[in-house]
Amino acid sequence: MPIKFIMSTATPLLTPRHVAVIGAGAGGLVAARELRREGHQVVVFERGDQVGGSWVYTPEVESDPLGLDPKRRLVHSSLYNSLRTNLPRENMGFRDYPFRRKEEKGRDSRRFPSHREVLMYLQDFAADFEIGDLVRLETEVVFAGLDEDGKWTVRSRSVDSDCVDEIYDAVVVCNGHYFQPRLPHIPGINAWPGKQMHSHNYRTPEPFQDQVVVLIGGAASAVDISRDVATVAKEVHIAARSVEDDKLGKLPGHVNMWLHSMIERVHEDGTVVFLDGNAVVADFIVHCTGYKFDFPFLETNGVVTVDDNRVGPLYKHVFPPTLAPWLSFVGLPWKVAPFPLFELQSKWIAGVLSNRIALPSAEEMAEDIEAFYSSLEASGIPKYHTHNMSTGLTQWDYNNWLADQCGVPAMEEWRRQMYMATSKNRLLRPETYRDEWDDDELVLQAEHEFDNYKF
Ligand code: FAD
Repeated sequence: MPIKFIMSTATPLLTPRHVAVIGAGAGGLVAARELRREGHQVVVFERGDQVGGSWVYTPEVESDPLGLDPKRRLVHSSLYNSLRTNLPRENMGFRDYPFRRKEEKGRDSRRFPSHREVLMYLQDFAADFEIGDLVRLETEVVFAGLDEDGKWTVRSRSVDSDCVDEIYDAVVVCNGHYFQPRLPHIPGINAWPGKQMHSHNYRTPEPFQDQVVVLIGGAASAVDISRDVATVAKEVHIAARSVEDDKLGKLPGHVNMWLHSMIERVHEDGTVVFLDGNAVVADFIVHCTGYKFDFPFLETNGVVTVDDNRVGPLYKHVFPPTLAPWLSFVGLPWKVAPFPLFELQSKWIAGVLSNRIALPSAEEMAEDIEAFYSSLEASGIPKYHTHNMSTGLTQWDYNNWLADQCGVPAMEEWRRQMYMATSKNRLLRPETYRDEWDDDELVLQAEHEFDNYKF
């Protein structure tokens, strides 16, 4: 049954709350919609000048290209100019607001569109659900802390006013997690004379003209950026973990790209030595090495911490047991199809806050978290991967668990199949998976399903 029919059923016993949502990216926008649907009074704080979060591309980069200087001027988005989505649009969109092809002028109707199209989709979402009225743009939350009476003080600063304190019943954190660079430890790096950058500050290939570049990382953005850089660089050497021996060496189909194992160390004369025994004298190192969770505004008196990228303790990646349901997080899981997952987390939070959905006791939630951490440890999954849903608990089990809590239908099977088909295709055709695929059958199923929705 289409979700829209279920969600329109209003229950008169709901308790409305005054809720602050921090961030107006995909997570904050869908949280705002779900909270308001449930009858809550919502204010969304957004420090940028428009909604869309990560999808608001800017050519601007930070003053420190590695992101180490805590006083640097922050740029939120990590998008590069050439970026096209790494998920097909059918998989990306919210469940009840499909990311449909629009054939209008100025729109990108490709199945894996450019980042501009995703921003337009999110702006359409905000307009169609009239979320703009709830959002305070250019307003940064500088502090969110629990008061003695159990309420939250949210201190914000906007471009044209000093700090303002307001009191809320609940805070939903949706500040994203792709803006605080994570850097690897490389022996000898402090004396290495070349230039360095984290992928957060990569926009276009021009700075790499005729350079010998070493690029660290093996995830989707590393693959894209290495190809982009290779269009102008003299040589591109990719250093990646877990590369099979027979894949090392020159990349097939490229005259100036090589694949290596990780960097062993670097030297004062500019040499970069790889664990496979090869070495190059390089001009530039680009770190496509991921990001750290960071909540600089959040004060929980030590209840919620970030330890080796584990944000915890959190029940099902959302609620800290002793502060539930008054503090929650949308969007921590990674290696997922984010938007539909954010949507289910938001529905759950909205329903719990109104007392429509019950949480277990704080003790039971703490036990569940302990059992989860123990299961990760027993499977040899490092703490850093706590919110990685390609290991341990999968996004499909997680989504279906959330759907069950919310009383909405489980995820459609085509979503899982399409996600798997895309992952397989990305490995098979790393250069062309966005334009060549074998799952047209699933696309038809998705489009058939989308016909059930108004938008
Ligand atoms: P964000 O989009 O980061 O939004 C957070 C918002 O919070 C921002 O607008 C920020 O300004 C605001 N904010 C932060 N701190 C404060 C504060 N203190 N006060 C007020 N406002 C604040 N996902 C896909 O589905 N498909 C893809 O193809 C894909 N490709 C990606 C490629 C790259 C390079 C990156 C980095 C990510 C990609 N993603 C992709 C993941 C993407 O991040 C998610 O799709 C999603 O946009 C995350 O939304 P979010 O709301 O959690 O965070």
